[in-house]
Amino acid sequence: MSCAPSISIKTVRRNIRQILAQLTSKEPITAVAWADEFFKLSPESSYTSGDWETDPFQIAILNAMGCDDVHEIYLYKGARIGYTKMLLAAMFYLIEHKRRNVGFWREDDKAIEKFVATELDHALRDCKKLHPIFPSVGKKGPGNTVNLKTFIGATLRCQGGQSAGNYRGDSVDVAIGDEINAFVTNLQGKSGKEGSPWPLMFKRTNGSAWPKKILGTTPTKTGESHIERLSKKANHHLRFHLPCPHCGEEQHLEWTSREASYGFKWDNRDPDTARYRCRSCGDDFTHSDYLELARQGIWKDPDTGVWTRNGLDYFDHRNQPIRARRICFYVPGYLSTRDPWRNMVQRWYDDKDDPLTRQAFFNTDLGVDYTPATGEKLDHSLLIDRRERWMAQVPAGGLYLTSFTDVQTSSRLETTTVAWGEEEEYWVLDHVIHPGDPSQQEVWNNLEKYLRQPWMHESGVELRISRMGVDTGGHNWDEVIDFASRFPPHQVIPCKGSSVYGDPIANYHKTTKGKNIGTWLCHIGTDSGKETMFSRYKQPRQGTGPQPRYMHLPIADWCNEKWAKQATNAIKVLVDNGRKLQFVFKMRSSTEGDEALDCLVGNLAMIRLSKQMFALDLKTLAQSMQQLIKGKAQRTNKPRRSRAGRVTGGV
Ligand SMILES: [Zn+2]
Repeated sequence: MSCAPSISIKTVRRNIRQILAQLTSKEPITAVAWADEFFKLSPESSYTSGDWETDPFQIAILNAMGCDDVHEIYLYKGARIGYTKMLLAAMFYLIEHKRRNVGFWREDDKAIEKFVATELDHALRDCKKLHPIFPSVGKKGPGNTVNLKTFIGATLRCQGGQSAGNYRGDSVDVAIGDEINAFVTNLQGKSGKEGSPWPLMFKRTNGSAWPKKILGTTPTKTGESHIERLSKKANHHLRFHLPCPHCGEEQHLEWTSREASYGFKWDNRDPDTARYRCRSCGDDFTHSDYLELARQGIWKDPDTGVWTRNGLDYFDHRNQPIRARRICFYVPGYLSTRDPWRNMVQRWYDDKDDPLTRQAFFNTDLGVDYTPATGEKLDHSLLIDRRERWMAQVPAGGLYLTSFTDVQTSSRLETTTVAWGEEEEYWVLDHVIHPGDPSQQEVWNNLEKYLRQPWMHESGVELRISRMGVDTGGHNWDEVIDFASRFPPHQVIPCKGSSVYGDPIANYHKTTKGKNIGTWLCHIGTDSGKETMFSRYKQPRQGTGPQPRYMHLPIADWCNEKWAKQATNAIKVLVDNGRKLQFVFKMRSSTEGDEALDCLVGNLAMIRLSKQMFALDLKTLAQSMQQLIKGKAQRTNKPRRSRAGRVTGGV
């Protein structure tokens, strides 16, 4: 009789299987291919159970989750996009195919328990591919608890993210945070608060040969949103682009305002007519068209042109291959293939009037953080405090002069003159008011005299204003066009403000409509200009040398509290126009006026226009200024005096 310990044949077979599973070298396979073959949808947590099939828009996301080259993934997710399933499939792939140790966090212990009970355990049961390396499948024990699943060659740790202790322990290869906007901002540790959870979570992947972080969430409120801050670390902000079935123009779908020429459209509050209007040709396509078009979709950063089709290979805008380490996906709910757009339009009408449900619509259908109306204002003392004493009318760094004149119907012209240096460092030289009725010639004559005067540069060289913008805003179009004809072409620029948020600061073109068809006109994106100006106001002075984009102000009579209040008299407000939240600038105080700010923005438009349309190069100008100064110095050493040199750029 044999005395060998009795092991059942079944156990022996299982052990052999497990060892083989570990030893067998595998054909590389992508996360999508793996998931399509092995991942299953569990009946308890899915509308349809059975085989998983990756949707076209999910392909790049799921592959990126499984790909070693992509180190950080941030994700804004709407509802019904299958995110939890993608995450489970990616985790299983990383564990089974790549034997990675995975750490998974939710906002607290309760959330993690629920996730394990309602999603993870069912998915582990139904994904048979994992069973050979998961001995404890279906039975609780030390290798299969809520917080720890032990596989052969890998572990999966699931933790609540509310306390610092839950971020300590063994290192992992992959750190996953789900619903990260629900996480605390300041962790509770044993000895008090320990700050943000993310550095601790990220630290857990230190030392891994394949460190990876995946952080996704349904958005919440702007300013209180973890993903808003974290996603700034991403280098590529990818949106799902598809070709228009009519004109072929590649575009990502946007929820726009009712007036917009493109976006989701429907008739008479009827969700059944929901469709998408192409931004290029204006033709419509439906959700079922979308299902077809999505097969040709790519993920692309609309700002840089960087794109990927499969989430593994990335290209720049010239289609040259690049490495993408940190990426952010924006996945609004309307990309869902299972939720037709008619449902979204119906929810819009159901949700839009109650602030709470309205936020939910923005978060889950549009996949964006919600911003209730707020404003940003600037203190005028920011400007008063920066005034400095100059040695000449135009300090040494100022090279190219522009002016902008604001026309106040029936009362006055207000003009600001600015000297620009290298890299748009600028000195506001003067702000002057010419009183008088702009429909009469006298005030224009005074302006002409002002604009033609020389300005003494610190070097002793005389400068002239090279580009002069004049607002045609009110009722004085004819006078402005007349006035411009007193100067060489393109020196005085008729301007018109455009307050569509996001418009370019300067857009110079011939008019195509109206009685003055064919006249050159500069459209000034006033909101973009104000935004730029405000960010420059906030820039502190660093040292005493050149400082790109810094605004210098003089100690001068005009540069007083009244002017500073006008120059800061705007407030950025988020306005709800009925369909869409959008930023606009509004006057903060209607009693103080904002002519000073308009004139500064106008000058910014003039320098931009000079650079873009008239090839102004401030660097070259700086060099010629140096030579001129040198030449002048040599001449003044001679006994006979010579006329001061002149420098004008542009035309
Ligand atoms: Zn089109």
